[in-house]
Amino acid sequence: MFPRNPDKIRIPAEVRVMWPDGPSRRYSETRIPEASLPYGENGCYVGNYICQHCTLPCQGVYGVKVGAQMAKKWLCSACLDASKPRKVDSGSV
Ligand SMILES: [Zn+2]
Repeated sequence: MFPRNPDKIRIPAEVRVMWPDGPSRRYSETRIPEASLPYGENGCYVGNYICQHCTLPCQGVYGVKVGAQMAKKWLCSACLDASKPRKVDSGSV
């Protein structure tokens, strides 16, 4: 969803893993709409978290251990729900 009008071209936010095994967030060295929250001591800005499974921006991510290596991934609530084992139907809705 990049604007086609050349006058409106902005520097897009990059996506950065905030620390080893940490969550991904939109990140920019300049303040832009996608990354407008001051972050850290070096004057950078961050925005939405990015799900490490569906790669969509989301308001919050959840750290979960996945796979045989129990690698840590940060997932949005939808992917977190999808990654959970299916519940056995207990008869209640
Ligand atoms: Zn997701």
